[in-house]
Amino acid sequence: MGGADGAWSELTRHFGDIELLENARAVLAWDQQTYLPARGAEARGAQLAHLTGLSHRATIDPRVRTWLDTLEATPLDPIRAGGVRNLRRTVDRAVRVPTELVERFAALQSEAFGAWVQAKQADRWDLFAPVLERVVEVSLERAAAIDSAGHPYDAVLQEFDPGTTVSSLRGVFGRLQQGLGGLLEAIAARPPIRARPLSLAEAHQVALHREVTAALGYDYTAGRLDFAEHPFTVSLGTGDVRITTHLHEGDLLGGLSGSIHEAGHGMYEQGLPRDKVGWGMEGAASMGLHESQSRFWENWVGRSRPFLDWLGGRLAAVAPELGADTRWLYAEANRVTPGLIRIHADEVTYNLHIIIRFELELALFERQLRVADLPEAWREKYREHLGVVPETFREGVLQDVHWSGGAFGYFPSYTLGNLYAASLARALEGAVPDLWSEVAEGRFGGILAWLRQNIHQHGHVWDAPELVRRAVGERDSVSDLLDHLWSRHGALYGAVRPV
Ligand SMILES: [Zn+2]
Repeated sequence: MGGADGAWSELTRHFGDIELLENARAVLAWDQQTYLPARGAEARGAQLAHLTGLSHRATIDPRVRTWLDTLEATPLDPIRAGGVRNLRRTVDRAVRVPTELVERFAALQSEAFGAWVQAKQADRWDLFAPVLERVVEVSLERAAAIDSAGHPYDAVLQEFDPGTTVSSLRGVFGRLQQGLGGLLEAIAARPPIRARPLSLAEAHQVALHREVTAALGYDYTAGRLDFAEHPFTVSLGTGDVRITTHLHEGDLLGGLSGSIHEAGHGMYEQGLPRDKVGWGMEGAASMGLHESQSRFWENWVGRSRPFLDWLGGRLAAVAPELGADTRWLYAEANRVTPGLIRIHADEVTYNLHIIIRFELELALFERQLRVADLPEAWREKYREHLGVVPETFREGVLQDVHWSGGAFGYFPSYTLGNLYAASLARALEGAVPDLWSEVAEGRFGGILAWLRQNIHQHGHVWDAPELVRRAVGERDSVSDLLDHLWSRHGALYGAVRPV
């Protein structure tokens, strides 16, 4: 077999082998964040760096470029064409970064993760700052290797959301921020809703998280739920997608929404076309799209009145002391309060947490801000955008895991996800007329089937904006998101939208 067919079968076998290495690496990384004892951290860092180097060497193998050249000169069906486009991007990026730098970055990620966990637990910035300085330097070195001419932040954005740039984000975030400001002002003029925290023993919470995520459609025969400092989801291979959560004894709804978020990621991974391993199109279309799946389930479903009515019934069974009347859950889940912690933020203020991180990362990458000055810059931004100031590092600059992994450029994915989810929700409501009455009965199959058909099964055949356009048509996602927030939160507060 020669020509394009031969090149295709060599290419897919080669990337199938790389996928096996990546699966092994993912198991070690999952364990690093869940069960690894502290003294095993250094050896784990070496293991991960070595596997990352092996995978990088295989990706830049010159034969790969020859196979891609052959395939690019041949007419291909859309699925293979999408895979070839993605693999070409991956290879083009990889050949520009020396293997030595790839391994150094991977080792540093492990070291920085360990330092971050310690620093956060002890609330000590000084334990994290020196290693974070090195993470920023190596990240900039990597960005310059990938593209020495462009904006360094554009180079990292491409990894997570191909096609997204600093200037496109500035435009979208600017419009969104303006709209959110109007809504927040209207809500602040209304009487506040009093907090009614809900606590439940941890053992009961775990059972509830499992029950709810299984009801949504996360498949426990192909996954499991564990505990981590910062919740995440990872695919370890076909039929094995793990989710994690973090329990908050005094904040039942906050912990549960974290599990629903990760189950959203997990269901997306479980619905990807994994039978096409090595094809280059079997993965997620982008991290923004990944976050659209998690945020959709967490917010559009998980904070809706029909869902909370159903949940209230389940809670009354698990914890009768809460009482039979749980209608107040809806107000508690949708209270708007500018706060310090991103993952506990309401839907309205959430995107401001993202805009803050985007501005800080940009300042670091443009060398307008030094790591040493980050805590003060963080406090300033929170005062400016949300009117609150953290008193601890844990509630401020140390709250998120991302920077320890060198994942600069990831945060915008959350807001891109909210925007995609807003448009997907509009299309879904049109396509599944009984949607909300099904949700009120704890039936979520219609939603999942629609997402499977319109999003999950297509993997990364198209980039995220095109995939979403095919699912929802031409829509303005900023308007969709603001409409949703006004109709849920504006209405809850009796705030009137100016025309
Ligand atoms: Zn997420």
